[in-house]
Amino acid sequence: MKVYNTLSKMKEEFVPLVPGKVSMYVCGPTVYNLIHIGNARPMIVFDTVRRYMEHKGYEVNFVSNFTDVDDKIIAKANEEGVTAQEISERYIAECKKDMEAMNVRPATTHPLATQEIPGMIEMISTLIEKGYAYNVDGTVYFRTRRFKEYGKLSHKNLDDLRSGNRSLLVTGEDQKEDPLDFVLWKPKKEGEPYWESPWSDGRPGWHIECSVMAKKYLGDEIDIHAGGEDLIFPHHENEIAQSECCNGKIFARYWLHNGFLNIDNRKMSKSLNNFFTVRDISEKYDLQVLRFFMLSAHYRSPLNFSAELMEASKNALERIRNAVSNLKYVQEAGAAGEMTEAEKAQLAEAMEFEKKFDEAMDDDFNTADAVSAIFELVKYANSNVKSGCTAAFAGAVREEIIKLCDIMGIIAEEKEELLDAEIEKLIEERQAARKAKNFARADEIRNQLLEQGITLLDTREGVKWKRA
Ligand code: AMP
Ligand code: ZN
Repeated sequence: MKVYNTLSKMKEEFVPLVPGKVSMYVCGPTVYNLIHIGNARPMIVFDTVRRYMEHKGYEVNFVSNFTDVDDKIIAKANEEGVTAQEISERYIAECKKDMEAMNVRPATTHPLATQEIPGMIEMISTLIEKGYAYNVDGTVYFRTRRFKEYGKLSHKNLDDLRSGNRSLLVTGEDQKEDPLDFVLWKPKKEGEPYWESPWSDGRPGWHIECSVMAKKYLGDEIDIHAGGEDLIFPHHENEIAQSECCNGKIFARYWLHNGFLNIDNRKMSKSLNNFFTVRDISEKYDLQVLRFFMLSAHYRSPLNFSAELMEASKNALERIRNAVSNLKYVQEAGAAGEMTEAEKAQLAEAMEFEKKFDEAMDDDFNTADAVSAIFELVKYANSNVKSGCTAAFAGAVREEIIKLCDIMGIIAEEKEELLDAEIEKLIEERQAARKAKNFARADEIRNQLLEQGITLLDTREGVKWKRA
């Protein structure tokens, strides 16, 4: 599997630190509002990377934070006259709803910056002890020039940065030793949330949060660190400086960055009136359409959002879903028994599309080509799986399409909800099976119901059930 590494600006063979395992950190959103469709891109893209890695057999430890202390959160809290915590809790809950609707799986851990302050104080203390940071009147700065490799991710040269940053010297930041130095800890202002520290009552800078959360939940060295390309500089560059100076080890081996999402070829912004939240889109479309749209392009390319492209994605997704639903119909009407020899040969042909799919994904997660491979399979199914074939053949092709879609987090077949009457009937059948000591059948029914999100409770008054 090859991945493009922003560090080397090359596609590299992916070799994890521990065979069979992947540790991955993705910078999450700052929670002061509903997430916008730009924020949805890294969520969808890196969720797909995670799913594909799992398909390849890796165990993935996926960590993605919520930045829940920030100027924008505080401003919003003041605007509404509520606490910053109320704002961040509200928008974390809303963000999780959007993630679920986009079929983005929850991370293994979603740490919150405000819950990790002791770790941040510890890392800042270590950086001061090692001479990489200094305190001026309660503000702690990182001594950027002390880290000789600064600029290695963004491929920037320190002296160019310095001339570009000269203006900083006249904007009130003259307490810094060098304009390139950045904040690790800052004192509170009136009315702001704060924590006690050896330097001042205050709060951490944004960059230190991610270094600390990655260290705590994944370790000093991690396989993959990811986020949108706007984070390369300064956020990720600063994370590298903090982590590598503190831990004395290479921080992340592969740095992955998604390209930006634009609207009708312009930058999305509130002032241009072309700003959409994920929730706005959900009023018009099933969010699976948004996911499909995002995956129709390579994750590193800029992506243009427009009404026409969303319509095209909607139609494309429908084509896949129609094919799956036709296959189900053919399967239900299909002949029982083993596949014929001719069908076995055809199924082997159909499986070739999975190879194409894997090849595309192995090439730096080329989801655009992977989607094409799914379409080729759909086309193949439409012309080769006809009524009169065996149920086994139609079923195998149908499951193959569902499986490839699922690797991308695309739901090709909605689970049909069981009606209450159907559930009751299955429960009766299970009771009868138990009476007849046919425990295998009874368990089978329990599992079938469980798959549909229905749990059974055996009580003294009889069997009760509830939906998940
Ligand atoms: P933020 O809440 O601004 O820190 O952003 C959270 C994530 O969304 C980061 O990984 C950003 O790089 C990413 N992001 C923000 N805007 C866009 C956009 N227009 N297109 C793609 N990614 C974006
Ligand atoms: Zn981060």
